[in-house]
This record gives sequence, structure tokens and C-alpha cells, in this order.
Amino acid sequence: MVKQLRWKRVPPLLLVTFSLLLPLPTDYGQAATPEEPPAAETPPSPLDASCREFHRLNSLLRDGNIPKEQARRELPRLLSRIKEEYFRENGKSFPRTDWLFPLRGYRATAVGDGPSHGYLPKGYDYYDGNRHGGHPSLDIFIHDRNQDDLDDRTGEPVAVLTITGGVVVSRETQWQEGSKLRGGKYLWLYDPSTDHLFYYAHLREVAVPVGRRVMPGEILGFVGRSGLNAHKKRSPTHLHLTCLSTTTPALLPENIYADLLRTRTVK
Ligand SMILES: [Zn+2]
Repeated sequence: MVKQLRWKRVPPLLLVTFSLLLPLPTDYGQAATPEEPPAAETPPSPLDASCREFHRLNSLLRDGNIPKEQARRELPRLLSRIKEEYFRENGKSFPRTDWLFPLRGYRATAVGDGPSHGYLPKGYDYYDGNRHGGHPSLDIFIHDRNQDDLDDRTGEPVAVLTITGGVVVSRETQWQEGSKLRGGKYLWLYDPSTDHLFYYAHLREVAVPVGRRVMPGEILGFVGRSGLNAHKKRSPTHLHLTCLSTTTPALLPENIYADLLRTRTVK
């Protein structure tokens, strides 16, 4: 049997010192506290249930296991519902002008070069899933010459931070070498306040569950080399970042390079 702690014997000063060591929940750039699995008798909140449903449909669409027309009908409807539930459950709004750079310790100079910065939306359709065309995305490169996922300057993994607040609506944590999945380990985050869906791909690890509400700057995971092409030697280690507008059912991509130029770096 586990012995109970005898709190009466702990001097009060020690208790105060201990409580000061606890991390502040509002600290930007800190990892989200790991969530306990909900107790069996606690039903998921409506928001939680809708996020899980989005995750289910998004994964089916990715693998071509749901008719495109059904996905075009159901996914935008689900996003409207998530938006309503997010605000009903006291979700916060975060203005676009407060967006943060998504890699800890990096800034917009890490985004790919060239006039388009890698953003090529032609031929892209979200509803094509894993087989989509185009590259409606920005690739953000880390210092990793030996391709071990670690920052050459620190020897540590690079934290992927959420640009803005919102709720995690889908993710993939099981990618393994040999899989045809292009995004590898990834995460989709919905920001109901600015009507955007963000896709963070090629991670080495995903750190937050579906349904988790996040504040700007929270850790979503770490930069990696997961994904069909990102894993190949010719690909420098990077974060693949896509931003889709949820104001129309087509979920059209948006180039957020200009926004990233204005973002603040989280140290
Ligand atoms: Zn990319």
C-alpha cells in the first residue's frame, strides 16, 4: 500500500517555497501540461467531441476513405460547430497582429528563400488529402547539418510553437519510416477567432492531444524529419507550415509570409 503524505509535518515555509516553484500556466513558450485521460464517468465536452469527429473525418479524407463530396459537406459544417462550441466554452480570441513565430529561437529569416518563399498554391485542394498538388505552404528550416533533428547550435530539439491560440482538431503521431504519408507526424490547429486552420508537419514528436485548447506560444511538438519526402537525405530539416482560411467551405490556402515577418520570436 502507498503511504499517505503527512502534510501536517511539512513546515509551512517549505510549502510556500514549493508552490513558488510551480510553473505559471500563462507562461508563453512553456510546454502544455500533459493532460490526464478523462475519467470514465466524465463525458467529453461538446467541443471535445466535435474535435474528435473532425479528426476522424480529416484522417479518412487524408487516406481517400471518404467520398470527397461528403467531406466537402461535413467538414466545413463541423468547423462552424467547433467555432460555436469554442466560444460557448469560453475560448479566447487572439488578434492576428499578436501572432508569434512558430519555432522557438528562430525568426522569419529561417523561411525558405526565393520570390515565393516556397509558397505555390496552384493545384492544391484540401479535399485531395494526402494526394494533393501544389505546395501552399512555407518551409521553415532549422540548423541541422547532420540531420539528427537537433539544433546544431544547442544540441536540443527545436520546439514548434503555436502561432496563435485555438484548439487542436487533428494529429498524427504514428508515422514510421516506409509510410507513404507525406506529412509524417503532424498537427492541425483551428483558430476560431481569425478563421484559420494551421497545419504543422514533419514533426519528430507531437506534444498535444486532439481537443486541447492552446494559448499562443505553447509547444505543439518538435521539428523533425517525418514524412515521405522530408525523411529523405536531400531534404534539409524543416517545419512545413500551411494556413487555410475557413471563411469558405473550399478551405483555400493563405500566404502568411508577411505575417511571419511581423511576428515576435519566442526565446
Ligand atoms: Zn513543405
